[in-house]
Amino acid sequence: MSFQLQSIAIIGHELALAWHDGTEDYLPLQRLREACPCAACEGEPDVMGNKLQPSRQLRPESFILKKYEYVGGYGIQFFWGDGHSSGIYSIQYLKKLMK
Ligand SMILES: [Zn+2]
Repeated sequence: MSFQLQSIAIIGHELALAWHDGTEDYLPLQRLREACPCAACEGEPDVMGNKLQPSRQLRPESFILKKYEYVGGYGIQFFWGDGHSSGIYSIQYLKKLMK
């Protein structure tokens, strides 16, 4: 099942997502950042399969969303106030975060 995103907007400290079926979701920016799916935030497994401690240091500006860009029709890349932007959130992943 795929979800069609109609539009997104930053409203205060939340990301608002409007879906094609007319529903809307709101996601706190802090939660969005903490769920960043990039390797640096997630922690990459080492050769033994152990997950390394994520190297991120989150600061207040880490939760400021400066801008976003659509990536290839399947995801959205977010640009954060601390310069971090390597996480690409798929539409499916964003929908999953709402639950
Ligand atoms: Zn990240």
